[in-house]
This record gives sequence, structure tokens and C-alpha cells, in this order.
Amino acid sequence: MESLPAAHLAGLTPKHIDVKFYDDRMEEIPFDEVTDLVAISIETYTAKRAYQIATEYRRRNIPVVMGGFHATLVPDEVAEYAETVVVGEAESIWKDVINDFESGQLKRVYRSEKRPDISKVIPDRSILSGKRYLPIGLVEAARGCTFKCDFCVIQTYFDSTQNRKEIQTILDEIRSISDKRKLIFFVDDNIVSHPKQAKEFYRALIPLKIRWVSQAAITMTHDDEMLQILKESGCQGVLIGFESLNHENLLKMNKSFNGTKGGIEAAVKKMNAYGIRLYATFIFGYENDTIDSFREAVEFCIKHKIFMAAFNHLTPFPGTPLYKRLEEEGKLLYRKWWLADEYRYGQVPFRTVLDPELIRTECVKARKSFYSFTSIWRRMFSKTNSSSFFMLHAFLFINLLLRKEASLRDLYPLGDLSFQGELLKVKEPINALSKNP
Ligand code: SF4
Repeated sequence: MESLPAAHLAGLTPKHIDVKFYDDRMEEIPFDEVTDLVAISIETYTAKRAYQIATEYRRRNIPVVMGGFHATLVPDEVAEYAETVVVGEAESIWKDVINDFESGQLKRVYRSEKRPDISKVIPDRSILSGKRYLPIGLVEAARGCTFKCDFCVIQTYFDSTQNRKEIQTILDEIRSISDKRKLIFFVDDNIVSHPKQAKEFYRALIPLKIRWVSQAAITMTHDDEMLQILKESGCQGVLIGFESLNHENLLKMNKSFNGTKGGIEAAVKKMNAYGIRLYATFIFGYENDTIDSFREAVEFCIKHKIFMAAFNHLTPFPGTPLYKRLEEEGKLLYRKWWLADEYRYGQVPFRTVLDPELIRTECVKARKSFYSFTSIWRRMFSKTNSSSFFMLHAFLFINLLLRKEASLRDLYPLGDLSFQGELLKVKEPINALSKNP
């Protein structure tokens, strides 16, 4: 899918600056191209690769700025590999970074002291053109979530607040891209954090007659008016973190609201009644999980004919309450699992009641079981999943794709194994426009 953060940053960059974007997921980065300054958005799972890319540029004497979730969660670590770290959201500080760089006074750290006004932020998608992304338009209507789930990076990063774009700005943005994109994906962390504002926005969306998907919390199913508006505005499906069928686990993760008003069973029925498809996600590794938890979650999803589901291990992201708790309890197997040479994707980097290796293999088994032909067949025939030929086609396409990917990334290394040499740490920050023409 297209990279919206890169387009947002391009939109914030003064117009006299030439911007080029390379998407490391799908193309080679031409490290020898004439470049004055490099900006990298970094997340915990991509941290090692981001440091490798930074090293390539810094070996060529090109300064690097890093921002994004990981830069905000562990700025001191990121500052070891980049001249400059942007802590927090870029909207209020990116112009200062560019101005300071142009005057040769790039600072080591820029901090966004409070949440910026994003009401009129417009991404510059021209930097994405020519790349072979799926025809899905990524749009941000709101940013952040007001809940405080203990494992969640979103609540840590945005301090359990949400701010929104102005309705007209979003509608204009959608109109400008909807001719080329069949589906809009609102990348919002939780579309129903502020129900009143959400209803106002989705009502305004109805005349556009688009199809869209997004992410929400279970609380959306407690509000029939909300479900009706979402349906009328073109909502095809939402991702909801169900996380666990165990009440004690939900309490531990500060997500007990998943168990209220009939819990997830009632939520699924409501979603089906409104014909809104569900992408249910589950995590494993809390203290009350047992060997049966994996099978029970899969059976629940098959029984309720859930459109898509994910079964992943709990991940302690730095800065989250979960990470701090596991660190205090001495349960982390690595202080920085995201940089550990021996750490592989899918491994559980902490000790818990169940064996970490068992959690990894059971997650893979759960995915394989949910995306087995038998399960796909059993889930296919529901009023929601096969409501039309188009939907049936979409159901089969997505489920067969995810079937292929059930164990694809298991034990995959982080970073690029072909990278040569050591990661280059900052001793003397590079801070000059290149001599290149
Ligand atoms: S509801 Fe979702 S986005 Fe909000 S804090 Fe919980 S896990 Fe994070």
C-alpha cells in the first residue's frame, strides 16, 4: 500500500525543496544519487533496516533525519544513528528542521511539545506516482485514540488523545483520489474515539458514495446510530482488536471494555446485522493464556464466520506500559529485541506463563487453521461475506492471499541480511549542504 507518512512529510516541505521518495519495501534505493538531506520514518520493526539505510547515506557524508513512532519512543537510541531526531508529530517542527538545515544549523533533536493542528494537513501524493501500489487510497481523517491499552504504541505516542482533520479538507482529498482508487482506507487508529465528531464526518461522507475500510474499537458496536451511519457512508469493514477471549487478560491489558455489553460475541452479531465485515485481531502472551486459547480463538472466528482474522504474539514495544512492566519484572529476553542479531520475526521476546517458542508456533498454527480451505469454505457462505458477487470475489481473494502468508514472515530476520559492515554511529554530526551541483 502507498506510504501516507512520506506523502504527509512531502506536503509539509517548503515548495522550493526538491523531494524524492524511495520505498524500501519495493524498490532499490539509489544511495549514490545527489542528495543533501535524507529523512527516514522509523518504526520498531523497521529500526534495524532504517539504521542500515542511514549508515549507507552517512558513509557518503549525507546527513540523516529520523522521525516516526520509534524515534519518539526511544529518541536517545535513534540519535546514535542519525544527525537529527524528530520527536513527536512533524507538523509543527518540520519547517524548522528544513530552515535550520539550509542555514547550516541543524540541531540534534526537535521536539513537538504539544499535539499540532492537523485540521488542514494535505499530503503531497505526487512523490508516490509511478510506484506499483494497490489501488487503495490511504486517507487520514483522525489521528490517535483515547483508550489506554497497555501494549499499544498509539496511546503512548499520542498520550491517549485524538485530533482530527477538518471535514471539508478530508472530503476534498477523497474527491481528488477516488477516480483512481476503488477503495479508501482511513488509516485512523480508532474511528470512533469521539463518536459525535465521527458521526458528523461519516454523515458528510454519504453523498460521495465511496467504499471504505478502517480501524475501530468494539465500542462502535454499542451504538446503533453509529453503525447505521457507517454503513450508509460506504463502510465495508473494520479492524477491531478483540485481543483475547479471556476476561482476566483483558483486565491486564486495560481493555476490559471489550467485555462489556455482551462482549465480542454480541459485537460480532451487531456487525453482521449491519453487514459490516470484520477483521478481528487476537494477541497471545498474557498470563491467563493457556494452550487452549489459540484453538478457542480460531473456533470462535470460524463459528462466527469472521471475514479476516490475525493471531499474533504480544509485542513489548519500547515506551509502552507493557514494556516497562516486563522490564521491571525482569521478563524481557532482550532489552532491545528489535536490534538483537539473533532475534527473528515471530519470536516472543519475553518470558511469560506459556513457553515463548510454543506461543510462536501456536500463532502460526492458528493462522494456518483459520485460513485452511475448510475454514474458508465454512466462512464463505454468510450474508455479510458473500453479499454480492463482488464481495464473494473479495472474500476469496483476500483469504487465499492470507492463506499463503500464514507463515511467510515467521522467523524472518529483521533488517537486510545483505547489508555489509557495521552500523555507523554518530560521532560528529554531518551538517552541511553537499558540494554536489
Ligand atoms: S483501542 Fe486500539 S488504538 Fe486505542 S489504545 Fe487500544 S489498542 Fe490502541
